[in-house]
Amino acid sequence: MRVGFVGWRGMVGSVLMERMQQEGDFALVESAFFSTSNAGGAAPKVAGADPVLKNAEDLAALAACDTIITCQGGDYSNAIYPKLHAAGWRGYWIDAASALRMADDATIILDPVNRPTIDAALQAGVKTFAGANCTVGLMMMALDGLLRADLIEWVTAMTYQAASGAGAPNMRELVAQMGYAHAAAKKLLADPKSGILEIDRAVTAALRSDQLPQENFTVPLAGSLITWIDKDLGNGVSREESKAAAELNKMLGKPPMGQPGAVVVDGLCVRVGSMRCHSQALTMKLKRDLPLAEIERLLAAANPWVRVIPNKREDSIRELSPVRVNGTLEVPIGRLRKLAMGGEYLSAFTVGDQLLWGAAEPLRRMLRILLGREP
Ligand code: NAP
Repeated sequence: MRVGFVGWRGMVGSVLMERMQQEGDFALVESAFFSTSNAGGAAPKVAGADPVLKNAEDLAALAACDTIITCQGGDYSNAIYPKLHAAGWRGYWIDAASALRMADDATIILDPVNRPTIDAALQAGVKTFAGANCTVGLMMMALDGLLRADLIEWVTAMTYQAASGAGAPNMRELVAQMGYAHAAAKKLLADPKSGILEIDRAVTAALRSDQLPQENFTVPLAGSLITWIDKDLGNGVSREESKAAAELNKMLGKPPMGQPGAVVVDGLCVRVGSMRCHSQALTMKLKRDLPLAEIERLLAAANPWVRVIPNKREDSIRELSPVRVNGTLEVPIGRLRKLAMGGEYLSAFTVGDQLLWGAAEPLRRMLRILLGREP
């Protein structure tokens, strides 16, 4: 299979390349690398790959690929995908962007959770596959056991989303903001006799200063948080928040929210100062009042990456932590307890790396599924 890679040097693309190298995926295909900015330059040194970068807008070069994997972004997909199809290309398109996710002829991929939907789509001749929104995908990895058992009537996710979800420049800006705040208090911190209110005033003044680096977020994130992610849909809902119900139900082959049989999903999405792990506080109403031990058993057995963390202080602060999970495929879920509202009401907290399961990992696994190799 000849596979074209577009967007391989971006943030998601770099994680994809790293994972494909670790798992030996490149040995299974003939690779071609594309660029929107450096056609003719040197391609990454990968076994079986063309050594020269191709132009990512060259339809003939793209059409020579059996499969195209793109992490280039939604504008690219919106521009190129229709043109390739109009030119008669019918290869597999695997996309990290949201542009095609909700299209009728596209399937959202997260195979540990929705492999039956993916297999049915392949049988039906579907050739367009898109990764899920990172927050939705990570929630579904964590809740896999309860979703499989069809036990969730509704779930709300209150999110604590990482800077990486906004892009690489935003990650840099978060660290720059941290440094700017620290610099403002450095002298005071060095003096054990300085007053804490003095330190607070210095840090707050720095974070409110128009000198704070904030070109990308437009507001402070360090020492603060941001209560809106992505576009304002004009109905009180952010675009990020709107994705949960739509994508989750589509991925499970259920009707859209509002219709009988759909899982009701809603919540608030908030950006916090973590680097690349999204966290989510979940409240659920289950369809039945199951014992907590049974719930934990279902969750833990659902897939190899989810880990149930005992609802104890030491375990929670160490394991349910963005710093702990960063760069790993683990999806810990903990703080599991029945809420005061009644036996069907369950709380949970989960953390996951949004660049791995939230972006790159489902793409490389889809390629393996196409190749008939178990991911
Ligand atoms: P990105 O880092 O901005 O990369 C996109 C493209 O920007 C690259 O492929 C590259 O294209 C170009 N580029 C320009 N300057 C660059 C530089 N200094 N370093 C690297 N690349 C540079 O985009 P991304 O955050 O990976 O997101 C890609 C897609 O994945 C988007 O549709 C996004 O919505 C989706 N997604 C993102 C996340 C996330 O957490 N960020 C999660 C899930 C899905 P050329 O090589 O052609 O110049």
